[in-house]
Amino acid sequence: MSDCLFCRIVAGEIPSTVVLETDEVLAFRDIAPAAPTHVVVVPKEHHVDVVALTATDPDLAGRLLAAGAAVAAQEGLGEGFRLVFNTGAHAGQTVFHLHLHVLGGRPMSWPPG
Ligand code: 5GP
Ligand code: ZN
Repeated sequence: MSDCLFCRIVAGEIPSTVVLETDEVLAFRDIAPAAPTHVVVVPKEHHVDVVALTATDPDLAGRLLAAGAAVAAQEGLGEGFRLVFNTGAHAGQTVFHLHLHVLGGRPMSWPPG
């Protein structure tokens, strides 16, 4: 059994609310939503962060972005949304299995603080 939280979600060992799935990507609702719509999109394969993924499989990084855009469309975020990769401690990354946050459903200020 993996000790990685998102590997365990991908394996179905921890329940999640899935909104989109392909053979290589899983998108599920964040357990502590920071916006009315807050979905995280993960590659099923374990990669620590976006730097690691783009170094080893940039094509998969592109497909992950496409999945994020598809989630935004599916969630009706036509008025705007954010796609965010928190990368490293200063960015607030807490789960070290790469994930793309899809945030929307309310106006957002910049920078988020
Ligand atoms: P990070 O801070 O690493 O960029 O984002 C990790 C995200 O994972 C957080 O937004 C957090 O709420 C979410 N999260 C943590 N544990 C779980 C869980 O067990 N299930 C789901 N669905 N999301 C989780
Ligand atoms: Zn993992």
